[in-house]
Amino acid sequence: MDNLDVHIDPRIDAASTTSNDPILTYPTVVVHERYDISNPPPLPSPEWTRFVCISDTHTHTFPVPHGHVLLHGGDLTSTGKYDQMEKTMEWLEELPHHHKIIIAGNHDLSLDNHDDWYIKNFHRWHSSKPEDVTCIRDLVKGERARNARVTYLEDEKFEFQTKPDGRTCLTHGPPFQILDRTVGGDHVGCEALRARLPELRPRVHVFGHIHEGHGALLQEWRSSGTPGDDAGNQGGCTVFVNAANWPMGDKARREAFAGRIPFGQGPFQPIIVDLFDTA
Ligand SMILES: [Zn+2]
Ligand SMILES: [Zn+2]
Repeated sequence: MDNLDVHIDPRIDAASTTSNDPILTYPTVVVHERYDISNPPPLPSPEWTRFVCISDTHTHTFPVPHGHVLLHGGDLTSTGKYDQMEKTMEWLEELPHHHKIIIAGNHDLSLDNHDDWYIKNFHRWHSSKPEDVTCIRDLVKGERARNARVTYLEDEKFEFQTKPDGRTCLTHGPPFQILDRTVGGDHVGCEALRARLPELRPRVHVFGHIHEGHGALLQEWRSSGTPGDDAGNQGGCTVFVNAANWPMGDKARREAFAGRIPFGQGPFQPIIVDLFDTA
């Protein structure tokens, strides 16, 4: 069984630092969790590719730094209503990123058509009548979204070209024990997803859902599970990003004196992941 070793830059303890620009680094990775949004950190050099990670925006909009790829980990809206989705899509369509890849979260109720789930359950949130599912799907998958380079995915693969090749994973929930701790201290991530990681070994894995788990973690894969084995980075590394932008939970309380802080600020900014491909 493969092993995940945690390699964290000592400056990155986002829960305790007040530094304005916590950075995770690795020879081929730079991660920025907090920065001046009016003057985002530059790419290390033009050969690098910038991924910008957001999630759990719940119909809110805020400034997003430019980059090559924008990844949204779901919970695009509060309850999946048409006007909420329209507002989110208009915001995403305006953003200048070359690729914008989005998925649904558990709050995007009208996009859940597994076994007609929404039609059977809409009354629990949308009292009078169900939302027009066809129109909402058109917002996320229609021509206008495609023309704006937005790709909505549902349990599917999407191939796009960036310089650093390798896999990018986008899931709404975190894997077990990776940025999945609730305010109550429980790890609530998905064990099956965690078990797949040694096989998938993505360069970047973006998720959200557990808002208070917001942050980034750089983990190196070792080709052997033997403790102390000095196999180096032969197995590569994965950047795990809990990109949830909803400011709630422990970290929000620590950073903001008066409870919640505005979206896209404090420790809940879009997380920037810069990757370099040495090949
Ligand atoms: Zn959420
Ligand atoms: Zn969620």
